[in-house]
Order: sequence, then structure tokens, then C-alpha cells
Amino acid sequence: MIDSDKEMQGSKAPDKAIGNTEPTPQQSRHDLERTEMNVYDSERMADALAPAGFTETDAMSDADLIILNTCHIREKAAEKVYSELGRVRQVREARRRLGQDSVIAVAGCVAQAEGEEIARRAPAVDIIDGPQSYHRLPFLLEQHAKNHSPVIETEFPAAEKFETLPAPKPRAAPSAFLTVQEGCNKFCTFCVVPYTRGAEYSRPVTQILDEATRLGERGVKEVTLLGQNVNAYHGIGPSAKAWTLAQLLGALSAVPGLERLRFTTSHPNDMSDDLIEAHRDLPKLMPYLHLPFQAGSDRILKAMNRKHTIADYLRIIDKLRTARPDLALSTDIIVGFPGETEEDFQETMRVVETVQFAQAYSFKYSPRPGTAAADRTCQVSEDVKANRLDRLQTLLRAQQTAFNRSMTGSSFNVLWETNGKKVGQITGRSPYLQAVHAEGDSALLGRITPVEIVSASQNSLQGVIKARDAIAI
Ligand code: SAH
Ligand code: SF4
Repeated sequence: MIDSDKEMQGSKAPDKAIGNTEPTPQQSRHDLERTEMNVYDSERMADALAPAGFTETDAMSDADLIILNTCHIREKAAEKVYSELGRVRQVREARRRLGQDSVIAVAGCVAQAEGEEIARRAPAVDIIDGPQSYHRLPFLLEQHAKNHSPVIETEFPAAEKFETLPAPKPRAAPSAFLTVQEGCNKFCTFCVVPYTRGAEYSRPVTQILDEATRLGERGVKEVTLLGQNVNAYHGIGPSAKAWTLAQLLGALSAVPGLERLRFTTSHPNDMSDDLIEAHRDLPKLMPYLHLPFQAGSDRILKAMNRKHTIADYLRIIDKLRTARPDLALSTDIIVGFPGETEEDFQETMRVVETVQFAQAYSFKYSPRPGTAAADRTCQVSEDVKANRLDRLQTLLRAQQTAFNRSMTGSSFNVLWETNGKKVGQITGRSPYLQAVHAEGDSALLGRITPVEIVSASQNSLQGVIKARDAIAI
């Protein structure tokens, strides 16, 4: 499979191979989130196809099935898919010259949003599969083999998908994603998620605990719960009553093997008191929270249909910091939403100065067809958006660097995840989600050890390993 940053991943196929590609993403927080959800989805697609004899390949030229797993949140996602399809078609033509063939599938949110249009504009595409139907890929392949015509599947049966998918197959990484919630009913006027991922759906508690237990058995130490609106989680518990995300985190704390829990992405309106208290009471819940505020002006927040004010947001931040004083905060911010004035933008800058973020993701507003804000006549010019983004990112970079530097001299546990770029170096994550590099042997990968931080830069920390076993923090 080919991941969103075009790195090759997966293994060569003994039987049938799947290549999975996403169009090149723009730099951004959402791309990170998209990568998380899409990595999870890509892995589940591979799991769904395994019984049909498919394995993942790290080279598209080996692939009998090439899947473009797409996201539609921002930018000209559909156009990127069409241009990526040009590359995919060339690979297929080269394979055909060697007497082999590939099936081409477009999956994910662009497939959902564009449907028939993809079949019309890109006749090379054989299968169009929305994000709630990827468990049906083996069936769609059969259908395509029978009919030799494009197969389109864009229904919204999220519950069926999770019930039907096979158990995730073992993967080596000590940190794993686990989707607990999908979709959204909030309809922020800039956002396409409610249209592409459908209505809010929470997986039942037992299904999640089973998946988490299997991850723990396979040596996974850290689980990040995923959802477009993860803190709106309300899955059915064992006694038929809905559970909150805080309750779910409490139960996950008892799953053997799991040492660290995280969740993303949250909405301020669903930041309930029990979830805030979970940050105080659950030692396995890492002191990091991604909580988008989008814009600093109440007028713009109203136009965005966010249904919270900046005073509400700051109140939540205060409560969180009271509950967990060392909590590292991250956020999403949009500049240049239709009608945003310089004064509105200054209010965004003031919120950033007030909160002091450890990390943040900022975007120029980009009109998404079909969303309410896209047709507004008061669009902000590209030059103004670029200028505001530049000023905002300068401030955010300074805050991130200051946060990282404040760690120098302190000690905490790091989960070692991969070998570093330099020989003899390993890389992991701090409790605050910072990348940490240290000299160490690869026998430490998958382990959590105490580290003393000796230096810091904008993007990472350098540490010295103090012992080979975790300490209580
Ligand atoms: N559910 C989360 C965010 C999901 S989308 C929330 O409610 O905050 C991820 C991020 O992409 C958003 O937080 C927003 O900052 C950004 N985004 C979404 N649509 C966008 C658009 N049309 N233009 C620019 N940024 C956008
Ligand atoms: Fe999109 Fe708003 Fe839903 Fe987040 S809450 S996914 S921004 S509609």
C-alpha cells in the first residue's frame, strides 16, 4: 500500500497484491487526522481483502488491485484524485504490456461525494467505494469481475461495516489507532464531513473493548481512539445504556498491555465534565488534548455554526488545566472564513496568545462545494488569507518551540516506536505527543522508558535514556 505521504508500506504479495494510494496531502493538521483515520481505514480494507487472497504490497507495479483511499475535507480533493488516477492508469498500462492486469478502486470520502461523476470522468476506475462500505470490497470485486462495468457503492451502513469487518491482523507498531465513532451531525458551514461520512455513529462498547484487548495481546502499548467527533461518543454499553467517552476510557484503562490512551478529534461542545475529570483521574490518559476552536471572533463562530463562543472555549480550557495542570493543548484554526475582517483575525491571534498552544494546525479557508459557506459572496481574497496564515503560523511556531524548550532538564516516559534516521538512534513520543530522539538500541522499540530531555527544537526533543523500564509519572 502507498500511504498519503507516498511512502511505501506493506509487504509483497505471494498471491494477489493491493496497492493503496492517497493523493498528496497539503501540510496541515487535518492531513494528520486524515492520515490517522485513513491509515485505520486502509488497514481495515486490507484485512477485509485478506480472506480473498490479497496481501499488501509496497510497489504499485506489483498490485492486482490499486485502491486510492481519499479524503475530501479541504482543498481540491477531487481534482487531486483525477490527477493521481492518471499515474495509476499508467501503472496499469505498463502491467498490461507484461500480460498482467490491475483493478482500480477509489475509496473514501471523494468516492462518496463524487460517485457517478468519477465513473463518467475516469472510465479507468472499476470500483467506487464510499467510507462506510469498504467491508464490501471482496463482494464488489466479484461483481466487477462478473459484469465488467464500474461498480458504485456509496451507502451509509456504518454499523454493518464494523460488525462485518474481520479482526485487525497483527501489525508491528506499538501505537495503534482504533476508530470508535464516525460521522457528524453538527454541520459547521465550512465542513464536508456530515455529507461524506454521514450521521454520527458510535461503535458499541464491547466491540471496542474486544478490539482493544486484541491490540494489547499483540504488544500494542498505546491506543489513540479516533472519531470525527470523538468526544460525542455515545456507544451502547453492555447493559444497553449508552456510555460516554470518559466511561469508555475508564474501561480501556483496565485492558491488559495498554499503557497509554489518547483520543482525537474533540468538539468544545462535547467536552463534558466527566471527560475533563478523566484527564485528572486516569493515569493512562496522556496529558495532551486536541481541541479545535477554529476562529477567535464570536461573530465568525456563529457564521461557522460552531454553537460555542470564545468565552465557552476559554472556560473549558481553564477547567482542563485545573484538572490536569501539565495538559498540552493543540487546536485547529481557520483563517479567512467568508466575512472575516482584520479585527476578527486579531481576535483569533488573541485567543492563541491567551491559551499558549503546544501545537496547532492552521488552514486557509477553502470553499467546499455543497457546504453552506461556499456560496457566500463575502469570500476573503487569497492574498489576505495567505498573509493572515503567515502571521498566525509565526506565532504558533514560537509557542511550539517555547513549549518544547520548557521540557529541557525534565524527565518523563517515552514510548519508543521506530529506529531514528541516524544509526544507533531511536525515536518515540513523549506523554505530550512530542517526537523524542535518543541514542538507544532497537531492543527498546515497543518499550516505555524514562528519558531526561537535554535539548529541544521546534519539532522534536533530544533525550538521554535513564533506565530500561518505565517509571511512574
Ligand atoms: N471535527 C473536528 C474537525 C474535523 S475537520 C472539529 O469539529 O473541530 C478537521 C479540520 O479541518 C477542522 O478542524 C478545520 O480546521 C479544517 N477544515 C475543515 N474544513 C475546512 C475548510 N473548508 N477550509 C479550511 N479548513 C477546513
Ligand atoms: Fe466538520 Fe464541524 Fe462536524 Fe467537526 S463538528 S466534523 S468541523 S461539521
